[in-house]
Amino acid sequence: MGLPKFRAGQIYDWLHNKRVEEFQEMTNLSAPLREQLEQRYYINRLSIKKKLVSRLDGTVKYLYELRDGNCVEAVLMGYHHGNSLCISTQVGCRMGCKFCASTLAGRVRDLTPSEMLDEVYMAQKDSGKRVDSLVLMGIGEPLDNFENVMDFFEILSSPQGLNLSLRHVSLSTCGLVDKIRELAKRKLQITLSISLHAPNDTIRNLSMPINKKYNVETLLAACREYFEVTGRRISFEYALIDGLNDRPEHAIELARRLRGMSAHVNLIPVNEVAETGFKRGSRAKIEAFRDQLEKLGVNATIRRELGSDIAAACGQLRRQEAGERLTSSI
Ligand code: SAH
Repeated sequence: MGLPKFRAGQIYDWLHNKRVEEFQEMTNLSAPLREQLEQRYYINRLSIKKKLVSRLDGTVKYLYELRDGNCVEAVLMGYHHGNSLCISTQVGCRMGCKFCASTLAGRVRDLTPSEMLDEVYMAQKDSGKRVDSLVLMGIGEPLDNFENVMDFFEILSSPQGLNLSLRHVSLSTCGLVDKIRELAKRKLQITLSISLHAPNDTIRNLSMPINKKYNVETLLAACREYFEVTGRRISFEYALIDGLNDRPEHAIELARRLRGMSAHVNLIPVNEVAETGFKRGSRAKIEAFRDQLEKLGVNATIRRELGSDIAAACGQLRRQEAGERLTSSI
């Protein structure tokens, strides 16, 4: 707009520190300038359509409504090390993982950087708590929305804004290898999480269509490269599905493939989603899988479950809401 440089700093401060909702509130700008801004731009806003609070552990699940009426989910969890927020990166998802509720109806659109920021700002405003760490594990595939996620990271970690260190941010991907390579080049401090969920191609092909494009070997090669370039240890997610990927021989195969990678494996008892038919095995079986990995020298933990009474796992609430809307319009 041909304005002096210091105006940028002022506007940034209003947006990302003072978090005003109207240009008219930017009182150190002249009235004509506020008018001009109002005509050319908008300040993004989202609203809380539904909020569920777990009686078991205080976990809060938000169903946010975006400006265009689409909905996404975010979950605020309290840990001993602080508050962690899980956010969405797309409306829906086109990756098609067979066990996942978020992808059943495909992808509607990408989220903009401001929408992802507002997921964080709104959770803080509503809860009165500071978000200490962030995970990109809600609805969507973050690497399928690469540039917007990179812009989001830049504003999120800016000392002039929220100033959240990227060391406290995890990005989870189903394994878009070309994008993992591009991410490595950026040398960010984030933790990369890979949704592996299978020790070999036969099993991974059954549950994750992306494996047809980038198979396990190709994915793990990209992970090794990522570690070499960034020095950041990779975390692998492995959702245990009864009878599919949770046998002792699967633990042995997984350990063999991850050997020498200084990897961490996060075991997730699969969340049963009505449409998928995948079942969860017994707690004893899940613990035996972890013990087997540990015995073979692979660092493994079982993810603690939070908010199990409020359908806190990704995609479940948005689907419920869409279902309700569908029924009421018939
Ligand atoms: N698209 C990204 C991030 C979103 S999903 C990814 O694939 O990693 C976040 C995590 O939840 C992923 O590891 C995903 O595989 C896992 N997930 C999805 N549905 C699940 C279910 N029903 N039970 C357990 N984990 C699930």
